[in-house]
Amino acid sequence: MRQFQFPYENEDKFVNSLRKIKQWCNSSVTSAVLFQVYTYTLNRPKVETVCAIIEKEIPDSYIMGCSTNGNILFGDYCDSEVVVVCSVFEYFTTKIKILQFPINPQNAKEVTDTLIRETKENDWCKCVMCFTTIRGISTSDFCDNLKNLPEHIQFFGGGAMNIDMNSDYAFVFSSAGKISDHSIVFALMGGEDFNVESTFITGWKPLGRNLLVTKAEGPILYELEGKPAYDTYFKYLNIKNDEHFFNNTLEFPFFYEHNGINILRAPTAAQEDGSLVMTANMEENVKARIAYGDPWTILAKVDEEALNFKNFIPEALFVFSCAARKTFWGVEEAGKETRPFQSLAPTSGFYTSGEFLRTDGHVNQHNVTLVVAAMREGKRNLDKMPEAELNEQEFSGSVSMINRLATFIQAATEELEEANEQLRLAAIIDGLTQIYNRREIQRRIIEEADAANAVFSENNPEKAVKPNCLIMIDIDDFKTINDEFGHQKGDEVLQKLAEMMKTISTQNVPDSSVGRWGGEEFMILLPNTDIKKASVIAELLRVNFASIDFEEAHYRTISVGVTQMIPGEDADTYCMRVDTALYRGKNNGKNQVVVL
Ligand code: GH3
Ligand code: MG
Ligand code: MG
Repeated sequence: MRQFQFPYENEDKFVNSLRKIKQWCNSSVTSAVLFQVYTYTLNRPKVETVCAIIEKEIPDSYIMGCSTNGNILFGDYCDSEVVVVCSVFEYFTTKIKILQFPINPQNAKEVTDTLIRETKENDWCKCVMCFTTIRGISTSDFCDNLKNLPEHIQFFGGGAMNIDMNSDYAFVFSSAGKISDHSIVFALMGGEDFNVESTFITGWKPLGRNLLVTKAEGPILYELEGKPAYDTYFKYLNIKNDEHFFNNTLEFPFFYEHNGINILRAPTAAQEDGSLVMTANMEENVKARIAYGDPWTILAKVDEEALNFKNFIPEALFVFSCAARKTFWGVEEAGKETRPFQSLAPTSGFYTSGEFLRTDGHVNQHNVTLVVAAMREGKRNLDKMPEAELNEQEFSGSVSMINRLATFIQAATEELEEANEQLRLAAIIDGLTQIYNRREIQRRIIEEADAANAVFSENNPEKAVKPNCLIMIDIDDFKTINDEFGHQKGDEVLQKLAEMMKTISTQNVPDSSVGRWGGEEFMILLPNTDIKKASVIAELLRVNFASIDFEEAHYRTISVGVTQMIPGEDADTYCMRVDTALYRGKNNGKNQVVVL
């Protein structure tokens, strides 16, 4: 594989360049020629001219391209409006197929199903490179469906854009379709001797604690921990909701866990209600934390990945870098994170509105991320191992202050989170038996009763109140254990009973709660359980306890009360009834289950 890259200047020069390529192709084996055309303006006639010249000069070539937020040539930002990258494949086994489909909010499944079918029919396919317009479509549906691509297929690419950050107008085009502002282009690439590797780089690091996304819809992030999302930026970073908001938050996007990896989402605007418009969809009930972008950390990560790719001995690298990264660095310095790749092989690509990459089977839409794909035809030729030119010399040995402070904040946050968790557990768990304490089990009973009563009071026959039951347990003649064998033996009996209750309850009702009600009295809350099932569990507990050998204390027994909640009653009445059931058992000779 061989690559030619050049800025488009005028028709004559372009024709000349193409003729040289053609000459070169004629002098060696050429299986396929792929052109990538990138333009940071929305100048359709210019693109049409470029494509027409390519089609005329090299008729059997493949073309794919899009409008961009900036073009990357020779591993650096290139300020030419239109650039052309030409990859010539030299192994006769290498194959390419270009597909282009119109996209709209409804047809994600149709398009992805077609792609999946194509990759199966063309079983030589090893990867799919994708350029797409992303305005007005749900890329999350699109990405979710792509998990059904054959397992071995890599998927990467970028969202089209234009130079104006505030405009979401963009187009894609290819030799399989016209210029379109609502389309997706796929290049299927592969063959026996075709090799590909892909990865993503963020370099942004988490800062501070996890925040729960409590309200989000599509790309709008409404609330974190029940508070307007913007408050987080103001509280932790003192970023004001003004015209600088976008630039200020760029260094601090959100890390968000999705498909097991950290995905970055940056806010593009804060709205009056405190909600944030994000660069792509976020989900509710996931944890997000602010991340910080530190040039040194980013470059260290770039160097690390460049070294990984070095061993692959690539012949060409394709980079899709977020427009936000270009803004973060500025055009003068943006090349710092792509130049190390150029030292390995010709590196080209563009600044995107979103970056796509398949990892662990899932295709994710990233933001503020750099996706890199490396290609090579044939086996690795170790004699051609490139020398990687890294950024290292710029920060050799030392680490920036912000990096150190962020590490400090991270460590302190982890310690606090751990301490908080210990406190939270200490507040709800009984020390001796390791089951819930009285306050926690009581809180859970009230919560369950309130939820049932809420459904009940809606008086909606469609919504039947789900039954729930209480089991109360008291050890028979427990005092004699303490008196005869000491307090410690008594404690051991309590612990064994607690353990047994927990095992049997969770086996039968996974969301049950077991708590210590008092000295040797216990309470079990069984959600979604009727009295029939609860009675069976109660009997199981009685029989099981009676079979435990307490050595010198021999075999002991328990008395058990069982009752089902009556919709409409309060938690106190409910608890009193199970207590009455238990004491009927005590008065009746102990070692028995009484249902009331
Ligand atoms: P009954 O069959 O009527 O339930 O008789 P009992 O002896 O089990 O009941 P009683 O209420 O008379 O005695 C309960 C005893 O439990 C009294 C108290 O000292 C003991 N106790 C309470 N908490 C603990 C504890 O944490 N450890 C130990 N070892 N004993 C406890
Ligand atoms: Mg007792
Ligand atoms: Mg008692």
